Amino acid sequence: MSDKSYLDWPFFEERHRVLARELDDWASANVSHLHGRDVDSACRELVRKLGGAGWLRHAVGVQPWGHGKGIDTRAICLIRETLARHNGLADFAFAMQGLGSGAISLQGTPQQQERYLSRVASGEAIAAFALSEPDAGSDVANLQCAAHVDGDHAVLEGEKTWISNGGIADFYVVFCRTGEAPGPRGISAFIVDADTPGFEIAERIDVIAPHPLARLRFRNCRVPLSQRVGAAGEGFKVAMRTLDVFRTSVAAAALGFARRALDEALQRATTRRMFNQTLADFQLTQAKLAQMATTIDSAALLVYRAAWQRDQGRGVTKEAAMAKLSATEGAQQVIDAAVQMFGGLGVMSGQPVEQLYREIRSLRIYEGATEVQQLIIARELLKEMKA
Ligand SMILES: Cc1cc2nc3c(=O)[nH]c(=O)nc-3n(C[C@H](O)[C@H](O)[C@H](O)COP(=O)(O)OP(=O)(O)OC[C@H]3O[C@@H](n4cnc5c(N)ncnc54)[C@H](O)[C@@H]3O)c2cc1C
Repeated sequence: MSDKSYLDWPFFEERHRVLARELDDWASANVSHLHGRDVDSACRELVRKLGGAGWLRHAVGVQPWGHGKGIDTRAICLIRETLARHNGLADFAFAMQGLGSGAISLQGTPQQQERYLSRVASGEAIAAFALSEPDAGSDVANLQCAAHVDGDHAVLEGEKTWISNGGIADFYVVFCRTGEAPGPRGISAFIVDADTPGFEIAERIDVIAPHPLARLRFRNCRVPLSQRVGAAGEGFKVAMRTLDVFRTSVAAAALGFARRALDEALQRATTRRMFNQTLADFQLTQAKLAQMATTIDSAALLVYRAAWQRDQGRGVTKEAAMAKLSATEGAQQVIDAAVQMFGGLGVMSGQPVEQLYREIRSLRIYEGATEVQQLIIARELLKEMKA
């Protein structure tokens, strides 16, 4: 139902317009009805479907694999926006295949890329990105999960938490303290297959918008050094480069949730009768709808500016932070307004706006909370001023 005129914006090339329209049709037929299932099996099925239909190839970049050359940020954003509009779990399944394999796409050896990326792209292997810890979330450079070298292996000891796809992933890219230098310069990344002895799921975590999530534990977990991604001590850079690609796409997902909320609100407001007219006939409702549409378009402009700029090979630290800040905070307001227009129905379990209300909340927290984005934007502004 959403207005697609934004696809005419100069940020896009023809292939993006075709992609967005084809995916919209595919998603209507394939993912819209998957709500209400157990999340693990729904997620596995979504990964298989997205892989089978070829969409996951965009999450890992197209062949030939290698150093993220194939990553098309605008395509990733359009896909996340479209999937989020249809089904939050489908967006999650797509995004995690990209985030979980991003380090390998960007910095993996040819052997690592060969071994993992085609299986991630086809949906045969499920990926996860394990950075956060109980005492290192926003302050992630302070992570404590450690790895020491023993012969030709790294031995991992410690915990990770809030790990999406935890419990169903086939492999995890795990960031560990290896001690080459203090702080962020002493961290390395390792690919840990889910069946590696010494690795276990310590706890499954339930959240308000259910998806596979877990706390991970590593005890004497031996991983061949050939599974290290990037050089020793370069893991933090690998993590930040991966997040740089996907931060803008979190904003795109928020945009998709917001567009769905506006669609639902328009539908409801124009059909719900009260006081001898429809809800949409009241100017107070019209003001809400106008604000929702304006918030959505402002966020969309920031999202696709950042995606376009990254695809030009330019830095997007400030632009991606602005997109994430504006789109996630804006979507929360848009969705809340939609829930209000639905009245009691807005908080009834299973209603699309109720699901959106739960889905949007964590996007303001993960991959850099709103406050962290504010600090990034200000830091970049001050740097520009001094330059
Ligand atoms: C649903 C979900 C999925 C996730 N998936 C993954 C995953 O797949 N992999 C992974 O590694 N991690 C994942 N995370 C973890 C996520 O990245 C962290 O939750 C996030 O970084 C915040 O860390 P924290 O929860 O420890 O909160 P804290 O670091 O304790 O921060 C709490 C709050 O403090 C505020 N804050 C932070 N910094 C500042 C500041 N400088 N000034 C003022 N206020 C500030 C913010 O409001 C923040 O929300 C996920 C989290 C959630 C909720």
